[in-house]
Amino acid sequence: MVKRVGGCVALIVVAVGVGLTAGCRRDDGNPASESRATTRPHVVMISVDTLRADHLGCYGYARATSPQIDALAGQGVRFSNAFCQASWTLPSHMSMITSQYPHVHGVEANEHALPESATTLAEVLSAAGYQTGAIVSWVYLAEQYGFDQGFDRFKELLPPPHLVDSATTASFKAEQVTDHAIRWLERDHSRPYFLFVHYFDPHIDYAPPEPFDRMFDADYQGEANGSFDWIFQFIKGVHHEPGIIQPRDLAYVTSLYDGEIRYTDTHLGRLFAAIDRTLGMDNTLIVFTSDHGEELNDHGSMEGHQWTLYDEVVHVPLIVRLPGGGQAGRVVETPVELIDIPNTILSLLDIATPETFQGQSRSHLLSGPTPPGEPAIVYGEITRYNRKQYVRNARHKLIHTDDIGVNARGIPVKAGYELYDLFDDPAEQDNIYHPDLAVGRMLRFALDRRKESTVAGATGKPDEVRPSEAELERLRGLGYAD
Ligand SMILES: [Zn+2]
Repeated sequence: MVKRVGGCVALIVVAVGVGLTAGCRRDDGNPASESRATTRPHVVMISVDTLRADHLGCYGYARATSPQIDALAGQGVRFSNAFCQASWTLPSHMSMITSQYPHVHGVEANEHALPESATTLAEVLSAAGYQTGAIVSWVYLAEQYGFDQGFDRFKELLPPPHLVDSATTASFKAEQVTDHAIRWLERDHSRPYFLFVHYFDPHIDYAPPEPFDRMFDADYQGEANGSFDWIFQFIKGVHHEPGIIQPRDLAYVTSLYDGEIRYTDTHLGRLFAAIDRTLGMDNTLIVFTSDHGEELNDHGSMEGHQWTLYDEVVHVPLIVRLPGGGQAGRVVETPVELIDIPNTILSLLDIATPETFQGQSRSHLLSGPTPPGEPAIVYGEITRYNRKQYVRNARHKLIHTDDIGVNARGIPVKAGYELYDLFDDPAEQDNIYHPDLAVGRMLRFALDRRKESTVAGATGKPDEVRPSEAELERLRGLGYAD
């Protein structure tokens, strides 16, 4: 909720980097500010669920999974070290729109919804005069979880409740999500427009339509498939003796995941063309990202996500395309967090940032060098099946696992610290943690500070939501049982 005080929006001003408008500094409810709202650019924010950064061409992947996303990166600024704050959909998206760590917004389980008292990016933009709309394609972003706060128009493209077995294959696909977004874009926008579009296709089940199902592996003849039912046998956190996926089967399943990315990318191309045709690329700020990645046996498990905090599940794409395509092709290597997105957008628009936002504007990195003292440590956490936290800078990463004895599936949990030198060991296979190591002590201090961080007014207590039995059944079908 955006609190209004005496007719004004009570907000705190933050430093302004690359401003996209000229004039006065903040929205204070007066007519001059109102009129300035009409001069601000449109904003389109896109989240493709479950999208590993390293499976995109612009992040170095060898396969042609992402020509449209790569083109966007070529026209914009690509953050090569962007990290999510939780490795599963619900808490990560809530962090993305509230600019708060999961333990601060508190939405960390199927029964948790964002309370009305929370302040979201959409609420701030709406208060600043933006017309707002969101199209979401999975239940964790639905109204019942509070994701709709601040959106004038909110479209849920969710699978029908009775289709519990086919889960994501029954979900609305990128083609339909894009069709809906294009219909909205083609309307006349008298005011600046904030549009949020969420795609779900790369999430398990990996079942891309033709020709994307065989695009990257046309020769496979085996029994493997991309369904959760088949992949479930290889999840380490579930079984005392998990199956071991054979390399040829893994290659095929990976090709299906990549096919989902390429399929989504194709429809992103339609969306980008529609943005240019309707809002105009010269007058639109585009932010492209994902809520988390996906584990494809990188650490001996086909767990999808939500179990660990290795880079395959926390390193996500982040591309910011400025109106008119300024700074085209620039790459920012400074580590950044997804909770920085709301702050950066507001800074670019010259709109004051609420004091409840924990992230930081990175707008100055879009056009200038990283200044001395720029924050370069990122943090994330999960509390669901295991309780883990991580901190990471450009070179080192510390993961802490709480001692909970056994996880929710009865599997013993190995508590303690893991430390990786990502320059020497980017795959995080060689734990070099030792309590005397200075870098480990520094990162432990940073981890503890973030783990205990809070903001004024935050309770960490979410509202309660009761998903229907059909919804719970579908979530269980994707491994999301509590
Ligand atoms: Zn997700």
